[in-house]
Amino acid sequence: MTLIDSDGWRTGWRSADYVTAFETAFAQYTGADQAIAFNSGGTALEMILRTLRLRPGDEVISCAVNFVGPHIAVIGQGGQLVLAEPDPVTLNLDPADTERAMGPRTRAILVTHWNGATADIARFTELAARRPHPVHGPPRVIVDAARACGGRTPSGARVGAEGWATLFSFESKKLMTTLGQGGMVTTNDPALARQLEDLRTYGGREGWGTNQLLTKAQAAVGMVQLARLDDMNAARIARAHARTAALADIPELDLPPSLDESRHLYYRHNLLLPEEWAGGRRDELMNTLAARYGVGSIISDPVTYLAHGLIRHHTLGQCCPRAEQLAARLLCPCLHPQMTSTEEALIRDSIRAATADITRSRPPTS
Ligand SMILES: *Cc1c(COP(=O)(O)O)cnc(C)c1O
Repeated sequence: MTLIDSDGWRTGWRSADYVTAFETAFAQYTGADQAIAFNSGGTALEMILRTLRLRPGDEVISCAVNFVGPHIAVIGQGGQLVLAEPDPVTLNLDPADTERAMGPRTRAILVTHWNGATADIARFTELAARRPHPVHGPPRVIVDAARACGGRTPSGARVGAEGWATLFSFESKKLMTTLGQGGMVTTNDPALARQLEDLRTYGGREGWGTNQLLTKAQAAVGMVQLARLDDMNAARIARAHARTAALADIPELDLPPSLDESRHLYYRHNLLLPEEWAGGRRDELMNTLAARYGVGSIISDPVTYLAHGLIRHHTLGQCCPRAEQLAARLLCPCLHPQMTSTEEALIRDSIRAATADITRSRPPTS
């Protein structure tokens, strides 16, 4: 792409050429028919859900262990959020529990590729086809790939090629970024693509819309980031696999699965602590890591209905015990491919030492 196009005299008035070039490259990369850029992943998801025109009581199923954003979007677009349990290994939405949660009011299944481990989207599409809504047909499979840009699903497809609509985020923490904020939707449904284009630019010539475009500077950066994405992901995967191998002999730690062929991008390198450590001792380990060893960690992610008031209020009466149990055992120390090997070694040694500190502080009762 040249920065001055054939309409060079109009440069400064138009952002479309840059954005269109980025959209075309992104669609090609993912294998989807179309890509529609947005100013954030959050607005992209709101607009996907908006096209469903959810009525009170219309249900959207989503995994209880999640980023809060997708759940707030469902509530914001007038849907009833129905929580389902995570798979115990990947913590992605569990297909079996999704089937249990499905009913005659299910309009959509919202699948998050949680922390970079890809979910089996083909399986959810097949599930939706078997359980059509009486008026609207098969529930829509909407994929939140904010943390899985560049991954491949178990079927071998690039993330973004499967499902009805997939949203990506280019916010600064994500696997690629467009100057700190940005988003994209991929889809093979031309009617959805047209609606999304209208929604992000004042409704086309017909309906409601607002301004949700990416800037051309962001699109230009997106082109560069996209060209580097596979290399950046490969570096992250290599570092994650090395950390997993280095921590493998610590009996207290359940480590993330080492999946091949970009089926896990390790947006987070999550540790699962022993069941007896759920909650209190997990928090002790977190504090010890920070206070004694200077290593920061986060909980990514808590169960959304325990972490966020609006979601708690909206889902009163729903409970996902497996999600609560697993989330209380999660601990995520920082991981980044650009940390030096000295920094990485310090983090690994600190995890080992702090885990031993916690074990020693209260030996298991026999
Ligand atoms: C970051 C993120 C979003 C929202 O993306 P923004 O671009 O920050 O609005 C949605 N879902 C998940 C899982 C995310 O990690």
